[in-house]
Amino acid sequence: MGGELTRIAALDAAFTLQTYGRKPVLFMRGEGVRLWDDDGREYLDFVAGIGSVNLGHAHPAVAAAVDAQMRRLVQVSNLYYSEHRAELASRLSGLLGGGYRAFLCNSGTEAAEGAIKVARAWGKATKGPDANVIVTANRSFHGRTLGALAATGQPGKKAKFEPLPAGFVHVDFGDLDALSEAVGPTTCAVMLEPVQGEGGVYPAPEGYLAAVERLCRERDALLVLDEVQSGMWRTGPAFAHQADGVHPDIVMVAKALANGLPAGAVLVTGEVAPVMEPGDHGSTFGGGPVIAAAALATIDALEALAIGSDVSAKGAHLRDGLRALAATHPGLVADVRGRGLMCAVEFSAPVAGLVADSALASGVVLNAIGTHILRFLPPLVCTSADVDVLLGVLGSAVSDAAVEAAIAASQDETTGPSDDRRSP
Ligand code: PLP
Repeated sequence: MGGELTRIAALDAAFTLQTYGRKPVLFMRGEGVRLWDDDGREYLDFVAGIGSVNLGHAHPAVAAAVDAQMRRLVQVSNLYYSEHRAELASRLSGLLGGGYRAFLCNSGTEAAEGAIKVARAWGKATKGPDANVIVTANRSFHGRTLGALAATGQPGKKAKFEPLPAGFVHVDFGDLDALSEAVGPTTCAVMLEPVQGEGGVYPAPEGYLAAVERLCRERDALLVLDEVQSGMWRTGPAFAHQADGVHPDIVMVAKALANGLPAGAVLVTGEVAPVMEPGDHGSTFGGGPVIAAAALATIDALEALAIGSDVSAKGAHLRDGLRALAATHPGLVADVRGRGLMCAVEFSAPVAGLVADSALASGVVLNAIGTHILRFLPPLVCTSADVDVLLGVLGSAVSDAAVEAAIAASQDETTGPSDDRRSP
């Protein structure tokens, strides 16, 4: 460890709530797909701030927009008009095909809270006082605040913080019969990720979202889509659900909305929006001029790059490479999946952390979800050559892990197996 990393790691250990398992690296600078640590060592970044830096690090247009606005006006609150807020709302509506109104917030979990409030307000107003139940998916992730956590379908993340708000029902993602059984007169909304991200990168099965939309229309429930991770061209189109041809009532956006700065939005159709009135929701910082300027610059730059089709091609290239890796290690690589540049590889042994650590040592930043899954969320401006570098490093890391897994398996034969597959 370098001296500055040692100093900061000690401060962190002494003074921050220990809610993260941090890797021993201190990133000091970024540009595009690359990061540099305090020793000046270069890394290829396939995590991108967990899918929040879609334009790449230190994008000059975003930096210029932030710089100009910072020097002019930073904050006046939502009690007054300010530059960029309404324009950002109108751009987001346009990206969704028009007809949406935005509530601007600061993160994905706040977008979830906003969506839950709108859905419940709508349920009470249109179906009656008991129509407050939201059906979500097992394995889903919607955030860490209490409402978003209640919606999240991962019991391991919740138990310690109960009681959580009531009124959430979970069904298996992709199981239409289970959903049909769950959606009834007290349901106000169905809330789903078009591609489950934190749960392990599971794209909605073909035709599933369209069938869910039909069910919602038949049973008079809102369709809420959480595009926090899958939005902003991450999977190809501006929003992942656009490939499924559905028209959600509420869309949640955050992460890459302002290319790594804290921004979020709840987008609500014009028909549903009137249930929210002055005083029903608020945020001190949401839609502030600096963040809104950054978000507009981000959208401009992503659109100018016409990044959609490029993302699909690069994602296909990445998955082809991962499938070739799977063919080389059929006993260790259990699955390759994803859409656009939101991909994962699943191992049949608990080697994901080992592979990520080994890749980091070789200069490639990767994210392990739990013990068995590696997730790939590179900046969308990565090139096919960057993908090839990743695949080379990953190939060596997986070969090393295969040896380790074989040793562990032979030890298990003598000591008995231990299944440490945990909820991520
Ligand atoms: N929704 C989804 C689909 C997410 O992937 C995340 C974060 O990973 C969230 C919500 C929460 O976002 P945030 O961490 O910005 O609160």
